[in-house]
Amino acid sequence: MAEFLEKTSLEVVNSPAGIEGPGFFATRLDKVIGLARANSIWPLPFATSCCGIEFMATMAAHYDMGRFGAERLSFSPRQADLLMVMGTIAKKMGPILKQVYTQMAEPRWVLSMGACASSGGIFDTYSVLQGIDRIIPVDVYVPGCPPRPEQVLDGIVKIQELIKNESLRRRNQPEYKEMLAKYGIE
Ligand code: SF4
Repeated sequence: MAEFLEKTSLEVVNSPAGIEGPGFFATRLDKVIGLARANSIWPLPFATSCCGIEFMATMAAHYDMGRFGAERLSFSPRQADLLMVMGTIAKKMGPILKQVYTQMAEPRWVLSMGACASSGGIFDTYSVLQGIDRIIPVDVYVPGCPPRPEQVLDGIVKIQELIKNESLRRRNQPEYKEMLAKYGIE
């Protein structure tokens, strides 16, 4: 294995913070779980327009989101932990997006890609939702119209940082439940 790694440019994921010594390594359980979750994200692409095309480029060989352990896309909310919303969301689509979010099991994260998903973009009109955070909570916003693949990857890295550092208890805390309640989500 060591020989193989020397011959390639692959890098092994760093171990979580802990205490090391000869023959042992100790860390916290939530750090290990965070590391595993962050490097095995299953994204659900909710793509409605042009930002979705940019996402396809991000998935393709040149940018290759698989390098971040997130190449396994899920088209079922029940087998996804990162909802990626990309494109214009019409108000009629809002309830469907919310249903997809509520069908995802905890822990779940949301990335809003592009101006349209984040704020309605140039479509300041009666039929377009002026930002998905009006109906579901968002963890990371990626600006741009459309954002470049590098920006999307940067957003994924930000999500990874959140996942790695999130307490396992966060989802049971009253603040989290209160935040969901504001969105009418139990
Ligand atoms: S932000 Fe720009 S590229 Fe993305 S969906 Fe809206 S109009 Fe299209």
